[in-house]
Amino acid sequence: MTTKATVLLEHHLKALKLPTMLREYAPMAATCSKDREDYPGYLLRLTERELLDRERRAAERRLKDACFPVVKTIDSFDFKAQPSVNEPLVRELLRGEYIDRRENLLLVGNSGTGKTHLATALGFAACAQGKRVRFWTVTQLVTQLLERREERSLERLQRQLERYQVLILDELGYVPFTKAGAELLFDVISRAYERNSLIVTTNLPFESWAEVMGSERLTGALLDRLTHRVHILEANGESYRLKDAKRGLRRQADRSAPPSGATRET
Ligand code: ADP
Ligand code: MG
Repeated sequence: MTTKATVLLEHHLKALKLPTMLREYAPMAATCSKDREDYPGYLLRLTERELLDRERRAAERRLKDACFPVVKTIDSFDFKAQPSVNEPLVRELLRGEYIDRRENLLLVGNSGTGKTHLATALGFAACAQGKRVRFWTVTQLVTQLLERREERSLERLQRQLERYQVLILDELGYVPFTKAGAELLFDVISRAYERNSLIVTTNLPFESWAEVMGSERLTGALLDRLTHRVHILEANGESYRLKDAKRGLRRQADRSAPPSGATRET
């Protein structure tokens, strides 16, 4: 190809935002001529590459956009260590159909029982399926909402939140809210109702929600929206962190104790 044509082609590919085709058109032409591929075959191979790359870039963007504190997947979740968790339900939820039905998930249980891990793994799976996901700790979100209200940009944040198909609200109930904070959170949950899926993790039994929200009326309305079409996952076992720490201590103790045969030999 003449230099002028090459320059123009590269310009057009850039203008059309086809970076993979820009990178690949020359080496692919060499491969295709070796394979005796015809023109449509060449174009097909190039466009396939572009599509695949585009999907990969979008998946990376979604994952970054989700703001997971640590990326955790279901592969590293040990169901045997937490038998109270309903594994068949988790496996079903990983398929993501609840998102299309705009249903919510509530993960309830003590600290350290894997709620955040499960919520992240479910969010990760949703990302992989092309869904827009955003992880927040409830405290982060409420702080952000209050700040935005101060700056008079609350509505923009609310609209941004609506664009996510899955909102993860982690750790409801760890910190009580001010009245304004509770109302703003209620607003987010109200807007998400029947529009997006919420995944909420909490260590609180329902009876204690009013205390954290600071209002019986608000709590009633909130529970009403949240629990209409909800899947509840309970994790009631011992804290995984605690168990892990105990295992570590036992191993240490085993190492410092004399080997069991040693006493007999003396
Ligand atoms: P929670 O949110 O319920 O307080 P986390 O999900 O933060 O608990 O779990 C605490 C730590 O223990 C995390 O590092 C998590 O990955 C790990 N963990 C908890 N449960 C399991 C499990 N069943 N299998 C593997 N890791 C687990
Ligand atoms: Mg947690």
